[in-house]
Amino acid sequence: MNRMYGSRRREARAINSRNLQWSDAGYADVDYVAARAMSGSPLGSCLERLKFGLDHSVYGSCAELLAEKFLRRTRRTARKSLIHAALHEYLDDQCAVCGGNDLAPADSSKPCEACEGGGSRTYTQAERAQMASITVDSWRRHEADYLLILDCIRSAARSHGKGMARVLSDTDEPDA
Ligand SMILES: [Zn+2]
Repeated sequence: MNRMYGSRRREARAINSRNLQWSDAGYADVDYVAARAMSGSPLGSCLERLKFGLDHSVYGSCAELLAEKFLRRTRRTARKSLIHAALHEYLDDQCAVCGGNDLAPADSSKPCEACEGGGSRTYTQAERAQMASITVDSWRRHEADYLLILDCIRSAARSHGKGMARVLSDTDEPDA
């Protein structure tokens, strides 16, 4: 099951909202927009916007911030094709057989066999190498960097989610 933190759907809606009025009747879109800015993770915020807000215009910023994060961690420059491949994997992370809904397409009373009911897609080394335009034979030399880039993505998305939850819990929500 792909887990979403509770407010993600609202956050995605707020990203594209044209109505940024404050509301006394529960969180308004503007609360989510403000929380996004204060989550403390610009990369995480950008990634969420790309993936769940379906805003492709931030792809370049995501790639740039991700490369910066890799550089901060390793003091090395990441190979660009690895950055793009890892972003691809982050964006296209649902099981291709069940579409991420965990159930076998032929019999919805059973879990999907391809992902063992997890709903997420597992990439093989060959697939990753191909996405990064690297030969399978030399993938081994790049794999550690690739996994680190994936970790940069996941940790940024996680800390953005936590930051959002923290900011929103500091915002008084009237009984909605
Ligand atoms: Zn599946």
